[in-house]
Amino acid sequence: MRATVLYGAGDVRVENVPDAGLIEPTDALVAVSRACICGSDLWPYKLMKPGEPPRRMGHEAIGVVEAVGSGVRTLKVGDVVVMPFAYSDGTCAFCHEGLHTSCVHGGFFGTVELPGAQAEALRIPLADGTLFALPVRADDALMASLLTLSDVMGTGHHAARAAKVGRGKTAAVIGDGAVGLCAVIAARRLGAERITILARHPDRIALAKEFGATDVVSERGESAIERVRELTGGLGVHSVLECVGTEEAMRTAIGIARAGGAVGRVGVPHYEAIPGSEPAFYNNLTIGGGPAPVRAYMQELLPDVLEGKIEPGRVFDRVIGLDEVPDGYRAMNERDAIKVMVKP
Ligand SMILES: [Zn+2]
Repeated sequence: MRATVLYGAGDVRVENVPDAGLIEPTDALVAVSRACICGSDLWPYKLMKPGEPPRRMGHEAIGVVEAVGSGVRTLKVGDVVVMPFAYSDGTCAFCHEGLHTSCVHGGFFGTVELPGAQAEALRIPLADGTLFALPVRADDALMASLLTLSDVMGTGHHAARAAKVGRGKTAAVIGDGAVGLCAVIAARRLGAERITILARHPDRIALAKEFGATDVVSERGESAIERVRELTGGLGVHSVLECVGTEEAMRTAIGIARAGGAVGRVGVPHYEAIPGSEPAFYNNLTIGGGPAPVRAYMQELLPDVLEGKIEPGRVFDRVIGLDEVPDGYRAMNERDAIKVMVKP
């Protein structure tokens, strides 16, 4: 079968690899109908060091179950399923608490340990706990929005939850990638009254406004902090949704949070220590977030997608075949594309 392999910085290839198959009795084999390239795939694409082992990429997909192991109870061949970016047993203490990304038996797709979803098929460990069966056919018109439940919509929702978005509160979203745009949807869905997006690209700003952003700040660093403070009568915002992962983004997040407010961070951090310890302390800020337990959020978000109340699938602005994946990485890295959908 064909699959995407990252060999080094800027060196991503689509190759013939051995067919995916069942290994453990709790596995399922899924034929991929739709996959994506993620903003977080761009980190290794930019920074992979020489000598690091090749990696089979991709952690977002919708597909059809092709085979199940003898220990799989809840899924059957032919089911249309969405996969979260992490696998989990669904039964441990953390899974019961809705924190599937900390599952004691879990792990992540698209790593050196476990092949990813930018492929014709993939093996899903702990299939009962991991996969979420969708009440649709594989050609459903809502497929793009359903696909975002794999990662970006759930991740935006997690940022909003960690930032304690609520009715009547003010919110700011840092980042205009697919997660940032989904974070705008999530903030609005949870009742934020004003939503400021920190963004610079006109097409992304336009989409953010359609998703519910009320204000736009295109400055960076200190000027961005000043601008958000101006917009909020000097107070700052209740909820900051940090969807980038750089030290500068975190510094800005802490700078624009209102006293007593919260920062929800979902951008994979590429810095050693959280900056702004002093202002965070004196402003009584809560800083939360991490890898989103998107498996826990599927049930909650699914009805809104099915009813068309939210349309996170609009973040996809390019659809490609599997063999075009290297160009998809280039397009997202150069910000030619917001988010790329792959149809193997
Ligand atoms: Zn678990």
